[in-house]
Order: sequence, then structure tokens, then C-alpha cells
Amino acid sequence: MSNQLSRAYSKELSIRMTHVECSSLCNEIVIRHDNDPVAAHNLCRSIGAGLLLQPFLEKEERLSLKWDYKGTLKQILVEVKQDGGVRGLVRPHQLNDSAKTEEELFGKSCQITAIRLFRDKILQSGITESIMRDPVEDLGYYYSYSEQIETSLAVSVGFSQNPEQPIQLCQGILLQAMPGCDLLQFENIRKRLLDPDVKKALAKAPKIDNFFEKVLIQILDPTHKKTDLEIISCPAPSAYCTCTKEKISTIVKSLPTEDQEDIIEKGEALIIRCQFCSKTYEVTIDECKGIWAK
Ligand SMILES: [Zn+2]
Repeated sequence: MSNQLSRAYSKELSIRMTHVECSSLCNEIVIRHDNDPVAAHNLCRSIGAGLLLQPFLEKEERLSLKWDYKGTLKQILVEVKQDGGVRGLVRPHQLNDSAKTEEELFGKSCQITAIRLFRDKILQSGITESIMRDPVEDLGYYYSYSEQIETSLAVSVGFSQNPEQPIQLCQGILLQAMPGCDLLQFENIRKRLLDPDVKKALAKAPKIDNFFEKVLIQILDPTHKKTDLEIISCPAPSAYCTCTKEKISTIVKSLPTEDQEDIIEKGEALIIRCQFCSKTYEVTIDECKGIWAK
């Protein structure tokens, strides 16, 4: 299993498309966060969806996505960078048996926030309420409604019994209508993305190099088997994190005075775990005192 991302464009149809296969990356993140299958399923779908939007970022840009649900599932965070870096988490990290119905799991609606940044400067941000009860469809709705770009995504996640490799597959395709696109035609193409045959193809790891092209032809033009597709490889996705001891110190500095007093009284070093990558940082009591004295 590899991690790969590519984009394609059809001038004739004015549709841009992306494909991601991020199975080993999702595996790494799910193991690190000790997610159970329900939590892993939703997190991997969100990571796949986030990565499908990564090829549209410019140099040094990143896209930060947040899904706030009101069911037993509370929040999913995913951040993708133009160079292929991705990080994400789901809260709570375990969800099995937490809900009997989709409504209990997702709640009635979801608030989606998408922020595009260049370094730390916000270029664009939006919030939309969606009721799809699925992070991938909720994100598609966000783009179609809030950013007015007709967007359709499909992400497939497969599990294995192997505890060291719980995620067997995470693969997805995105279609976006660009200016000049015939929206009626796009609607038909969008329906074909959800065809059982296409779903079946996405549920298996790609075995051929031109898998994306083959699937796209099936979706875009099933009769003619010929399109003007231009397919370009993007930087391979990989897990990253921005945590540093310095950033951890900022968290320590912001602790309320009562907590600071408790910590000094106990006299034990603080162990702080990064919520994204699960790396732990130890801040000694002397370091704490130094931070609070500033
Ligand atoms: Zn981290």
C-alpha cells in the first residue's frame, strides 16, 4: 500500500477531478490515536476527503477543515498542506457502541468550517450547516453551497482483522464543476460516481498504474471510452505535525493560576500529549516555574 494523490482536468467538460489512495497514512494515524472501527471509519473518510481538496492549494497554503457534530461523535479535524502533509483527529477517539442510529451518532446537523491559509494568514473561510450525517457528504455540501462550486466526492474505507494494519484501504475520488461546465451533464456524471460498479472499483486497492484514468473514463464518458483527460501526480500524502516543545510551553503558560499552584505543590513533571500526533512532551517542574515566572 502506498499513499498517492493525483489530479485531472477535462477541458471539454470543464470538470476537475482528484484521486487519493491514502491507506497506509490512515493506518498510521488510526493506530496512533487508538481509534475503534466507528471512529476510524469517520476519521479516514474525512482525511480522504480533505486530501481530495489538497491539489487545489497553492504553494505554502493549507486547508483546515472542522466538522462539529452534535451526536456521540463530537468533532473531526483535518488539516492538509500543499506539500502533501496531513494531520487529523476525531473526538471522542472511540465510538463503537456509542450510538444505535445514525442520528444518535451524528446528531441532527453538522457545522462545517473550512479555512484556507497561506502560512498563518487566512485567505478564505466559511461555515455551513449540513444535515447529511456523513463527513464526506457534509463536505461536498459545504463546497456546493458555501463556496458555490458543485462538488461530488466518494471515499471508500476498508478494514482488516490485522490489529497492526486495521485500515486495509482508504481511497477516494472528487469531481468539481468549473466555470463553463454544463451542470446537467455534471449531474449525470455525479450520479455515475455513485454507481455500484464505481463503488466496487473504489473499494479495492488500485492494482494498475492508470487506475484513476480508467475509473474517470467510466464516470465521465462510459460510451465513448475516450476523453481529453490530463492527469498529473501530486506530492504523496504523508502524516505531519506542527507540535514543538515551544508550543507546549505556550499551553503550560496559559494554565490558570490555581492549576499552576497545584502543579508546584505536587512537584511532578507535566506530561503533555499532542492531540494530533500523540507525541508526549515532558515539562519538568523547574521548566514550569521558569515559564510561569516570565
Ligand atoms: Zn504533534
